[in-house]
Amino acid sequence: MLRLSHQDWLERAARLRPMTVHHIDGADHAGDGDTFPVVAPRDGSPLADVARAGQREVDLAAAAARRAFDTGAWPRLAPAERGRALIRFADSVEAHREELALTIALEMGKPVTEAYTIELRAVAACFRWYGEIADKLVDEAPQTASDALALVTREPVGVVAAVVPWNFPLTMAAWKVAPALAAGCTVVLKPAEQSPLSALRLGRLAAEAGLPPGVFNVVAGEGPTAGRALGLHPDVDVLAFTGSTAVGRHFLRYAADSNLKRVWLELGGKSPNIVLPDADPLAAAASAAWGVFFNQGEMCTAPSRLLVHSSIADRVTDAVVERARALRVGDPLDPATTMGALVSAEHLVRVRDHITRAHAAGARLRTGGARLERAGHYLEPTVFDRVAPDMALAREEVFGPVLAVLTFDTEDEAIRLANASEYGLAAGVWTTNLSAAHRISRAVRAGTVWVNCYEEGGLNVPFGGVKQSGHGRDKSLHALEKYTDLKTTWIAL
Ligand code: NAP
Ligand code: MG
Repeated sequence: MLRLSHQDWLERAARLRPMTVHHIDGADHAGDGDTFPVVAPRDGSPLADVARAGQREVDLAAAAARRAFDTGAWPRLAPAERGRALIRFADSVEAHREELALTIALEMGKPVTEAYTIELRAVAACFRWYGEIADKLVDEAPQTASDALALVTREPVGVVAAVVPWNFPLTMAAWKVAPALAAGCTVVLKPAEQSPLSALRLGRLAAEAGLPPGVFNVVAGEGPTAGRALGLHPDVDVLAFTGSTAVGRHFLRYAADSNLKRVWLELGGKSPNIVLPDADPLAAAASAAWGVFFNQGEMCTAPSRLLVHSSIADRVTDAVVERARALRVGDPLDPATTMGALVSAEHLVRVRDHITRAHAAGARLRTGGARLERAGHYLEPTVFDRVAPDMALAREEVFGPVLAVLTFDTEDEAIRLANASEYGLAAGVWTTNLSAAHRISRAVRAGTVWVNCYEEGGLNVPFGGVKQSGHGRDKSLHALEKYTDLKTTWIAL
């Protein structure tokens, strides 16, 4: 277990020399000298100047991945060998767990203890899981007439460009990179501009773990330039994107405007969390508060709409407010911190604007709403009740620690409210009535429904959205569908 003090982490942070160059074709690549600054949300201090990829670096990375796929060993290796390489990669992530957790806490502001215990565990486990299943997949030989043989084989789809957000910088990357590599694809990863340092380090670790050159490349840069260049690139076969719904639309256009590359989208959410009158109100409240404030509310799955039966609304909301007030907002490097800093000054402005508009629309502020008067981008955990379904706070993704509480009187009304969203990523249901749990789970349009829990997950269970939360699934064997094509071969006998 991790037993580092605040002072220990501060000292480690002072000594950290983050990676600031791209990882292309198995080597460091400084680019043409153009850089962009990465700033620590915890205090606004500069962390590093990082190489900024333009068209040239994207071309180099895509060409390296193309070569590694078209003529390199990786897609042609025995699956067990690819699996062993991924397991070595997982070992290497584990061996650098402390450094990677610190890097993430510094670049995007989450508590370092959560980065260490939750994110890094998930990342290493993800590479290990796909390493372990790499040689356990079987193809199909459908039954045919006796004069022919039909084979249905899964072939790696080619070069995958993964473009990911900053909220779980390495988890979101691993959910794409690990299954793509297990399938025999090669990858170019572009992390978010706010969180390139952990991803660049991951590129180097992959090379150290023995992944052949060009198999896994990382380029740092901005969305509208480097991200767009990958989106339009003729050497890229698949775009695996996690991020906002607005940017997801760009990716569909990139595919249409280039080579019709396949596009997979994991997008935003405004997930409903339904509490029926027979639920345990305190358990529901504890989970609701944990879910919406975890990771500073910067969660695609955040249960940001608490839909609670009017008969228990006050009891549940009071308990959520109490939990919100008990959170310790502060320095991500302090192990006592339970909520860190928002990712950037711009993001803090956006989240506060949601709060201002909710106020103006007539929602009632129950707790929070203010930023902390100190350097860094800290916001109090915020709860609004008396939120009406047509208010922006009930419809728009905030991606910050802001909860909207709405009430309902019947199960039908709860379902109607839950589905009154362009998003469909996740939902929660709290009830002791088995039939109601099943009825509501069926009726709510969401990729995941959690009953009497929230954020349960396992690598063998798929994750993804419906409606404008995207499509396709990360994790589990289903993720391999994104990175493989079915080939049919007929042989006359
Ligand atoms: P974002 O603004 O959509 O950015 C995501 C990625 O896309 C970043 O790497 C970004 O690069 C890049 N990008 C931005 N504009 C682009 C463009 N015009 N062309 C190509 N690439 C572009 O999202 P974010 O603010 O980083 O993350 C928050 C969003 O991610 C939320 O909506 C959240 O719900 C969603 N999310 C979804 C899931 C899921 O699994 N469904 C998981 C986590 C987060 P730059 O940073 O350089 O701009
Ligand atoms: Mg962005």
